[in-house]
Amino acid sequence: MIAANELRTKYLEFFKSKGHAIIPSASLIPENDPTVLFNTAGMQSLVPYLMGESHPAGVRLTDVQKCVRTGDIDDVGDNRHLTFFEMLGNWSLGDYFKKEAIEWSFEFLTGQDWLGIDPTRLYVTVFLGNENSTKDEESIKCWQEQFAKFNIKAEVCPYGEKINGNKDYRIFPLPEDNWWGPAGETGPCGPCTEMFYDVAPEKGALVGTFDEEVNAFRVMEIWNDVFMEFNKQTDKTFIPLAKKNVDTGMGLERTIAVLNGTNNVFETEIFAPLFKKLEELSGKKYGESKEITRAMRIIADHLRATTFIIGDQKGITPSNVGAGYVLRRLMRRAIVQGNKLDIKNENGWTKEIIEVVINAYGEVYPEIKNSHDFIIKMVEEEEEKFAKTLENGLKEFTRHCEGLVCKEGEGVVIPGEIAFKLFATYGFPIELTKEIAKERGLEIDEPGFEEEFKKHQDLSRTASAGMFKGGLADFGEETKKLHSAAHLLVAALRKVLGEHVSQKGSNITAERLRFDFSHTEKMTAEQIAETEKLVNEAIAKDFPIICEEKSLDEAKAEGAMGVFNSKYGEKVKVYTMGDVSKEICGGPHASHTGELGHFKITKEESSSSGVRRIKAILE
Ligand code: ATP
Ligand code: MG
Repeated sequence: MIAANELRTKYLEFFKSKGHAIIPSASLIPENDPTVLFNTAGMQSLVPYLMGESHPAGVRLTDVQKCVRTGDIDDVGDNRHLTFFEMLGNWSLGDYFKKEAIEWSFEFLTGQDWLGIDPTRLYVTVFLGNENSTKDEESIKCWQEQFAKFNIKAEVCPYGEKINGNKDYRIFPLPEDNWWGPAGETGPCGPCTEMFYDVAPEKGALVGTFDEEVNAFRVMEIWNDVFMEFNKQTDKTFIPLAKKNVDTGMGLERTIAVLNGTNNVFETEIFAPLFKKLEELSGKKYGESKEITRAMRIIADHLRATTFIIGDQKGITPSNVGAGYVLRRLMRRAIVQGNKLDIKNENGWTKEIIEVVINAYGEVYPEIKNSHDFIIKMVEEEEEKFAKTLENGLKEFTRHCEGLVCKEGEGVVIPGEIAFKLFATYGFPIELTKEIAKERGLEIDEPGFEEEFKKHQDLSRTASAGMFKGGLADFGEETKKLHSAAHLLVAALRKVLGEHVSQKGSNITAERLRFDFSHTEKMTAEQIAETEKLVNEAIAKDFPIICEEKSLDEAKAEGAMGVFNSKYGEKVKVYTMGDVSKEICGGPHASHTGELGHFKITKEESSSSGVRRIKAILE
């Protein structure tokens, strides 16, 4: 048996022994990348460095990264796809390449001090070649050298050919899947090589094509080494990169599964306590029927993702847009599955599962432990909201469906406006409406829904234009002072309300400061007075406001506040105000706190779910 903790440690230790610096998991929410809502792989937060920027930790990096893949949501419930999972990764930034990457992957997998996997259970894929690039002969050679260490003949199986019991076939060239291409038109790209584990050698030799064996779950992908070798040009030609990179990703849950003799990510120590709790809550047994198993898997996966998303460094709360909407979808899908299991609990049940997740991961990911109360509060609220609307929404759904008539030769289609009404009025994510419809043999007019959704979005976008622009529009003296006041304010709020408070947005004009922060309850008059008092005390002490440039590591070591992860490489500015505040920030600021005058909170109100807003002035 190997547990998740041990695998994380072994992985990092192994790559450390090969000269890699261990870096922390970046936030689940990508920095400066509006094209994706969540980090889907370890490389995401490292893109600037893979594009050539230098990384302060060096040219060899390793980490364990939290990932969310919403694209895999419909696959959750199968044996190997999760929405939230952990990815172990190692990188070479223009340093080592295929030879070392493959050698170390093999050593980590088979070495007795490491995973000690029987090499006869390993199969690898490589890039077959196409009109853009040739077959990855170099990787083939590297793999053959590795397998030869165990006197294993590793032959290349021609693409598409059935394995037919040939035990020497171990290397499988494949087309598209083994080419890591740029997301856009141009950018770094190259071949990749994936490692698969035979989960059931007792069933005899492999017989089908490699794809057939993958689809039959006989072999499972656990690790992928990507070799960024070329830069794709606008004219679609590929020129070799001056600095070639290696980017690897090993799925933690899948690896734990195979190392413990199962082909199923859910049948591991990672999920066992979650199913145990679900069994308690529902009085049903995991594995009792296909439906129950599927429901429990979806709940466990989605609530695990929920915990990590709300508890992230950049904590997201349920909403109707962006990452908040994904979160809402995950929670509501889990709740609907809970209904299927007849889980009844007047005071909500999702928090019971969330507690188990926080317990299991709090040590490794302290951010979720630190936000424990906040996470519980948020899921309680969301569940309560949803429970109220679910019943009414289902009635509404039924009422609308009754009036619909079946067109000749077509199923009954629910118009887009109705799907949107369910979304807008009852908070039914479209996927949920689709699922309920499917269960009743109905369909949704999805393009119609999209149209309604866009109409609505355009309206709300105009209304919120100009909000949360971040930064300061003009650096007038008053705005600088208010900016400094914001630092003192967050420090005071953390003292008065607790360490869970973090900045969620701020907007400063010459007249006032508007500051949003994570907190669920309305502040009491005493708390407001206490906050004002602390800020004014810091002003009275007339601290010099000191700006220093530091590396993130230094800033972090000194306990500076701000978002740390995924910004390595940059020197950051750290602003210090006495012993009250130390924050990473771009500035600018006043020069002494004494310049700020008198701080006064003019309003405290709700901003969005789990976020409060303070308006304040300096008099
Ligand atoms: P698959 O084809 O099985 O979906 P993938 O090719 O999408 O996998 P990669 O993008 O290469 O996977 O990710 C690297 C590793 O991360 C995989 O080898 C696997 O171990 C793990 N992984 C990928 N997607 C998931 C997921 N949805 N749940 C759990 N682990 C995953
Ligand atoms: Mg995939």
